[in-house]
Amino acid sequence: MREPDADCWLHPDVEVRSSPVAGRGLFTTVELPARTPVSRLGGTLVDTETLRRLIETSEEYVDAIVVDDDRHLLLPPGNSNHFGNHSCDPNLGWLDEYTLATREYVPAGSELLSDYAMSTVDETWFMRCHCPSYRCRQMVEGGDWRIPQLQQRYDGWWVPYIQRLVDAARAGR
Ligand SMILES: [Zn+2]
Repeated sequence: MREPDADCWLHPDVEVRSSPVAGRGLFTTVELPARTPVSRLGGTLVDTETLRRLIETSEEYVDAIVVDDDRHLLLPPGNSNHFGNHSCDPNLGWLDEYTLATREYVPAGSELLSDYAMSTVDETWFMRCHCPSYRCRQMVEGGDWRIPQLQQRYDGWWVPYIQRLVDAARAGR
């Protein structure tokens, strides 16, 4: 697996604004063709035990994504990338373990949204969702990658680690 960059990168035409979804979000000021990288995450790789300890002891929100078995990317504090909001009908997906890209053509002014289930396998994690999509799951959970409809819809867009779990699950059916 590739080592992450030390810091995060955001597409120069993407900015942080207050969001109708929640708090602040990431918005593009220009139209973006499909498969345009918009956010590349950097930071430090830690194991699950270290991450759990950080979550228990840290005063600040601990921002991390899963990248492999027992490997999480811990984002540096104070980066804008972490304002990316969740949607159950996202316009972003993962190009590789660190890079979010547009899954489709995205018009200028749009909020950039990913489905958090694409990048978590933590079975204890959940979040209520009230996004306007008719696909809204109401409750987004760390085990959502097991849902066959999601496996199909996000095929090729999961973080590579979860894509491997999805492929194995689908092969076993
Ligand atoms: Zn939703």
